Amino acid sequence: MTSRAVAASMYRLWNEHPRKWAFLKKRADRMHRCSDYLVFGDVVNPETGEVVRKLQAAEFCRDRLCPMCQWRKSLVTFAQVSEIMDWVDAHHAGEFIPIFLTLTMKNVPSAELGSAITTILQSWSRMMNKAGNRKPWRVAAGWFRALEVTYNKDANTWHPHIHAVLLVPADYFTNPDKYIDHDAWVAEWRRALRADYDPSVDVRTVKGDRAHAVAEVSKYAVKPGDWLDSEDNAGTDGRVLLLATELKGRRLTAFGGVMKEARAALKQEDAETADLVHTGEDAEVRGDLLVALDRFEWQVGVTNYVRVKRDVLVEPPSE
Ligand SMILES: [Zn+2]
Repeated sequence: MTSRAVAASMYRLWNEHPRKWAFLKKRADRMHRCSDYLVFGDVVNPETGEVVRKLQAAEFCRDRLCPMCQWRKSLVTFAQVSEIMDWVDAHHAGEFIPIFLTLTMKNVPSAELGSAITTILQSWSRMMNKAGNRKPWRVAAGWFRALEVTYNKDANTWHPHIHAVLLVPADYFTNPDKYIDHDAWVAEWRRALRADYDPSVDVRTVKGDRAHAVAEVSKYAVKPGDWLDSEDNAGTDGRVLLLATELKGRRLTAFGGVMKEARAALKQEDAETADLVHTGEDAEVRGDLLVALDRFEWQVGVTNYVRVKRDVLVEPPSE
């Protein structure tokens, strides 16, 4: 399993410097055993009589670099975002519409990954905080953002970026005081990023479809990422050490405005500590959010290992 491959890398690192990297041994011990114990049970749908296999119990290590646990946490997060969007619709009927943003920066080498993650998270704050008083902050009544870091094997560089859902006023597209076109989004993000180049920004809407669909997110499959290379232990270990260090204590997801209020009203638990057995995979997720997750391949955390697969059933990742 991919979790085992990450654990094996941590053990190798620990063997090199047992004292310095003692914390990696602890993490490896937990990750090595992660999801060893999985209990599936057949659940019968009382209406249709259909029998589905579902996860009933498991032991998860919860480590940020564990592909299995990161996948489960993503399921929790996306089900929560869907629930929040519904809550806002119910309590502010007709007031807001969602737009979906992806904000990027230039790829960076390993030595600059830590400072790049700091920069991108601070830039988001600059753009969306009251003190900045920028148009995106004035227009968005609520937001959700997720940090994603991908690895480019060919160039040996990292690509930190942010995916966000913004709830904007219903007249956003027709009111010039509120509307932010693509060029203006690039300018806002460039300013926030304090960049000397135009960063790539993707902004989209998903029309209409707020009807619930049975969560296709439950059909995500887990694959090892390019940062995990079974033919290159030295490279893998360097990247594992880098990610283990640089992702520590980072806030991978955050909520603001009316979405934060909804989260409090719904008493949602942080995905980092939430139940990973009974995740949102059974929940119905809003159609518009699903389209965004699927088409734009939204992930949370370190990726390259989760890909949308429509034709596989829920099952633990295997070799
Ligand atoms: Zn795990």
